Amino acid sequence: MALETPRTLSPSKASAFTDCPLAFRYSIIDRLPEPPSPHAVKGTLVHAALERLFWEELPGGRTTDKAIEALEAAWEHIQHDPEFVGLGLDGDQAREFRADAEVLVSNYFRIEDPNEVRAIGVELGLETQIGSMVLRGIIDRLDLTADGELVVVDYKTGRAPGAQFEKSRLNGVHTYALLCERVFGRAPSQVKLLYLRDPVAIVATPTEQSIRGHRARTTAVWSAIERACEREDFRPRPSGLCNYCSFQDLCPAFAATAAAS
Ligand code: SF4
Repeated sequence: MALETPRTLSPSKASAFTDCPLAFRYSIIDRLPEPPSPHAVKGTLVHAALERLFWEELPGGRTTDKAIEALEAAWEHIQHDPEFVGLGLDGDQAREFRADAEVLVSNYFRIEDPNEVRAIGVELGLETQIGSMVLRGIIDRLDLTADGELVVVDYKTGRAPGAQFEKSRLNGVHTYALLCERVFGRAPSQVKLLYLRDPVAIVATPTEQSIRGHRARTTAVWSAIERACEREDFRPRPSGLCNYCSFQDLCPAFAATAAAS
């Protein structure tokens, strides 16, 4: 019996399937519980702080102090989030977690001046249908430049990739470029990844060709997911990511690798 395909495809689902189809099945299709990730929860906290900064402060008032106030409000809010609670941090660990989030929020100001940014959308959910695929994404921030161009911005709390991985890390942002083109009728002039840890910005300029290529790749991933659901055939793809996988106990490939070593 065929498995039900997911209702939508997002950049994170596309990369989860590409990384390992079997882990994708466990997580997205079977919805098996996974322990919360400190990295992901910290990302949520920092994103929430920057979102508040842009919602609550007008250009001219977006200072580091205001950003730290926004972080404090987000910190209060996240105390009731099951993902945060699930981390089980003790007092010292929670203080360290909060202090590191503050470093990331402060670093943001070393990449750009938010007072010079005209944000027209924050945490903007976009969706479009391409064939049988519903492509969905949430854009951290959509800016409008003085020239009337759109710019897609994505905040990252992990380390910036080396030059050889830059292109693959831009995959998600290119999905947002494709979504803008489909939903607003025009592509952004730039897509930016702001790596708050380093802190550094990686910027790409989408072209008709790059968007067309990305659309073809995304459609191919969706077809592969449909095929895998139809055949109930999600194969493991062992890699360095296995070390962080929540499904090691269920995975035959992981068991085989462990037995051989
Ligand atoms: S342990 Fe590795 S191969 Fe197995 S499901 Fe996880 S990522 Fe895939």
